Amino acid sequence: MEAKQLLFSEPGKFSHYTHRKHLAGKTFEGSGVRSMCGVYFVPSQDHGALPTCSTCEEMYSLLPKE
Ligand SMILES: [Zn+2]
Repeated sequence: MEAKQLLFSEPGKFSHYTHRKHLAGKTFEGSGVRSMCGVYFVPSQDHGALPTCSTCEEMYSLLPKE
């Protein structure tokens, strides 16, 4: 585990993007998942209500679209 090296986001402050494979695994353990910008966060149902993390948004836009 590399969790100790990662920063934790403030809950509910930003909506982060993450990889779908992370969502499939970690969500059910009740712990956070690693976002694209490298912070851990707990996915919530009301993403739309939060401002999107600009770092995540930038990294997401750089991903190849398939
Ligand atoms: Zn982020």
